[in-house]
Amino acid sequence: MNYYVLTLFPQMILDGLNTSIIGRAVKKGLLSLEAINIRDYADNKHGKVDDYPYGGGAGMVMQAQPVYGAYEALCKRIERKPRLIYLTPQGRPFHQEMAKEMAKEKELIFLCGHYEGIDERVLEEVVTDYISIGDYVLTGGELPAMVMMDCISRFVPGVLSNESSGEWESFQNDLLEYPQYSRPKEWRGKEVPDVLLSGHHEKIEQWRQNQSKERTKKWRPDLYIKYKENQKKTSL
Ligand code: SAM
Repeated sequence: MNYYVLTLFPQMILDGLNTSIIGRAVKKGLLSLEAINIRDYADNKHGKVDDYPYGGGAGMVMQAQPVYGAYEALCKRIERKPRLIYLTPQGRPFHQEMAKEMAKEKELIFLCGHYEGIDERVLEEVVTDYISIGDYVLTGGELPAMVMMDCISRFVPGVLSNESSGEWESFQNDLLEYPQYSRPKEWRGKEVPDVLLSGHHEKIEQWRQNQSKERTKKWRPDLYIKYKENQKKTSL
């Protein structure tokens, strides 16, 4: 998977992603990450990339030309026009299934907005997917782009050391994951549940299933309703 990020703050992307599991995957060549500075494509000597919004209002708007210049130069260089994701609070909410589907792409471009956003005309020209990471407004698209790349990368074969660890976790079948424990057996008077020490795989599986359901019911009742509805459909 090759990631290209069009941004005004390339260092933020490189600092944020070149560590831990993602950093290791980049070193192994399973992922590549390039942060492209939109400012390098400004057509004025001051590197100015924003201006006042037509019609008035607070803040500045990122201009169309530098964004298009950065996109066009990239596509020309790689001789392809990959899917381009614009991070915006107005987009479709990002979720686990979307990440799985996007992990099948060979490359993805992320476009990070700042200030009041980006001139609509260039978005109409280049964007294939408008994606939000939640119903709140951040100062820029860099953190959302990093959230998406981190999540998508977990589905790229070889990125997680144990291939299966990306499969059985929260949101699988609309349930949250069961609680996890590690050594020591007792910590500040709290014991690990006996069943996990029993070595009885069937019982452990049953306990985990029950915990998943209970936890989802309590913490994410919206998800639990979805789970129950799907259970009903599959039993018909
Ligand atoms: N004026 C815009 C609006 O109300 O829709 C918000 C602009 S926001 C201050 C600046 C940039 O941050 C956006 O262009 C977008 O790239 C990014 N951003 C902010 N919140 C986001 C979210 N929840 N999901 C994805 N991107 C977000």
